[in-house]
Amino acid sequence: MSKMILVSACLAGVKCRYDGKSNKTESIVKLVEQGRAIAVCPELLGDLETPRDCCEIVADNSGLRVVSNKGEDTTSAYMKGAQKTLEIAKLVNADIAILQQRSPSCGCGKIYDGTFSRNIVDGNGFTASLLKQNGICVCNYENFNDYLNK
Ligand code: SF4
Repeated sequence: MSKMILVSACLAGVKCRYDGKSNKTESIVKLVEQGRAIAVCPELLGDLETPRDCCEIVADNSGLRVVSNKGEDTTSAYMKGAQKTLEIAKLVNADIAILQQRSPSCGCGKIYDGTFSRNIVDGNGFTASLLKQNGICVCNYENFNDYLNK
């Protein structure tokens, strides 16, 4: 049985996506309503605004960076958001995070490739990666029941 669950706020219906929309998913909303999950948006925690420019992770000689479709380096905001999300996860004793797929913050396993052409590659968003490094099980809205029932 899970202790507390962290969920991407956009999955819980918050209109915090870069384009001002949500990814509302009823099964996730239900977890929040039941008091089993709390909703967080790492990008808002990193002081980004909604709406905002679309960003993707790029890998180069200096490591992993996040850049916008206008070429702005937004890495520090994504790092801050990841750190703040980890702090919240620790505060509420979360052991599972159900995160939105392919996001440069929340994506787990698959992300966009940094070319803004909808190509998908293996990789994790900054927040998903930090949560995993700290022993939190990261899953998505399609497979979370496999983890909750463990
Ligand atoms: Fe959703 Fe995560 Fe992007 Fe926030 S950072 S809009 S919670 S995918």
